[in-house]
Amino acid sequence: MATALETLKQTFGYESFRDGQEEIINAVMNGERTLGIMPTGGGKSLTYQIPALMLPGITIVISPLLSLMKNQVDELHEAGVPAVTLNSTQNDDEYRAAMNSLLNEEAKLLYMAPERLGSEGTYNLLNRLPISLVVIDEVHVLSQWGHDFRPSYLAAVGLINNLESAPRVMALTATATERVQADLEEMLHIQHTVRTSVVRDNLTIRMEKGLNKKGKEDFIKTYIKEHRGESGIIYAPTRKTVDALTESLTAAGINAVGYHAGMSDEKRAKAQDDFIYDRTDVVVATNAFGMGINKSNVRYVIHYGIPGSVEAYYQEIGRAGRDGLPSEAILLYAAADLQTQRFFIDNSDNQTPEYQNLQRVKLQEMANYGATQMCLQRYITRYFGEDTPDCGRCSNCLDTREAVDITTDAQKVLSHVVRMLKSRGGENGFGKTVTAETLRGKVPDNFAWANLDQLPTFGILRGTPRVHIISLIDYLIAEGYLRVTGQYAGLTLAPDAMAVLKGERKVMRRQDIRSIGDRVRAGSP
Ligand code: ADP
Repeated sequence: MATALETLKQTFGYESFRDGQEEIINAVMNGERTLGIMPTGGGKSLTYQIPALMLPGITIVISPLLSLMKNQVDELHEAGVPAVTLNSTQNDDEYRAAMNSLLNEEAKLLYMAPERLGSEGTYNLLNRLPISLVVIDEVHVLSQWGHDFRPSYLAAVGLINNLESAPRVMALTATATERVQADLEEMLHIQHTVRTSVVRDNLTIRMEKGLNKKGKEDFIKTYIKEHRGESGIIYAPTRKTVDALTESLTAAGINAVGYHAGMSDEKRAKAQDDFIYDRTDVVVATNAFGMGINKSNVRYVIHYGIPGSVEAYYQEIGRAGRDGLPSEAILLYAAADLQTQRFFIDNSDNQTPEYQNLQRVKLQEMANYGATQMCLQRYITRYFGEDTPDCGRCSNCLDTREAVDITTDAQKVLSHVVRMLKSRGGENGFGKTVTAETLRGKVPDNFAWANLDQLPTFGILRGTPRVHIISLIDYLIAEGYLRVTGQYAGLTLAPDAMAVLKGERKVMRRQDIRSIGDRVRAGSP
């Protein structure tokens, strides 16, 4: 039998394994229930395609993504690997042909959607096949702590465990926090987990802040023109924005197509193909685009708005630079966009309040990402439970502004939060807006009852523009001095705050002005 390395060379034409691949393959071949966590573009497909060729019988790949299945099967055919798919878009003839090649044991791989397992006919068929391995792709959707929980996927797990041929099991994902990992390990009885670094060395992460709608459009147009002939994805939060932006780019002479779930299947397929086959440079899309699309030469991913979670963001930007060549990910960050995501959460159907709260926590992490001055790559690796040195190339690492001491302003904000909490006698803090308004000596409408103007810290940052105070509060949250809790996003102190209040720790921040107080004294607006 060919070894894993020989199969890699002979069938797929690659010289050596990438980080994590061999360990996953060995674990699966040893019969261990294996969980693989590797970044997008890290090479997860080969970790089951190679065992599929080495093991007798058939490997089933359960994937929620139709487009992925089609692409993968086409690619495998090119490599001379017999693979089939069973899906709802097939006509009778196609379905029968796929069935036959499975029953004749010609096909080595079967790709299918989880719902298919639930169909009795299909399940009975599977029980007649010699299935050696079942792969659960995009497995993070099984965890309620993940960013795209799909409870319907759970039923598939039970069915897999009951298959008569008692196949080996492996599960794969690009995005799992430590909590999601632990959840999956328990749920799937995992015996061996392989987690590679989430860092993609060829990806440079940038953030552009404070642009309004027009500013963002201008930025995108200029960027695309400077990168003419290169492939890029622009993610926008709503269908309406996708349509408007596509039109505006096209009017500016840019070769762009739109993509969202509100378009007809036909139009979407065309947009996707135009992009994959380089007939268009740019696709403007909602997050409906991209899962499972294996286009290797995407040079940049720009986010017009803020995604709902760090996991979603990292997955989306991972679509750049799968070929290993230098690529960029740019987030156009405007705090106001958080409202759009909040709206999605508040109006999400069929979700429990607990799940909605979890989404709010995830969104807050994204807000912190926007406010942090830490290396952006490091912020992300820490989020996933890994800590890496500063990358030296993200926009925060390259920020040359001098860090200034803002301890006094920080103390003012923190002590105000303490007083406000005490005045309420409880745990639930007041929100960011009320905090900012009262710091500048204003009582917001509907808050007269709270008597906040009686607090000694009321108006302690009087004369400072609201946006500056909000931005300072955001910074203190991102740096771990303040915490946001509960459905109403109340502010409370985080553990590190005490050291600042006692004067034991300095708070530094890179900014264009020395401190809020100096700016006011200097008479600037
Ligand atoms: P993922 O599913 O983890 O996002 P893929 O499996 O689609 O990533 O792999 C991304 C790209 O890397 C593909 O083009 C694949 O052919 C390539 N690739 C995978 N493993 C290797 C390897 N060992 N050597 C070179 N290229 C590889």
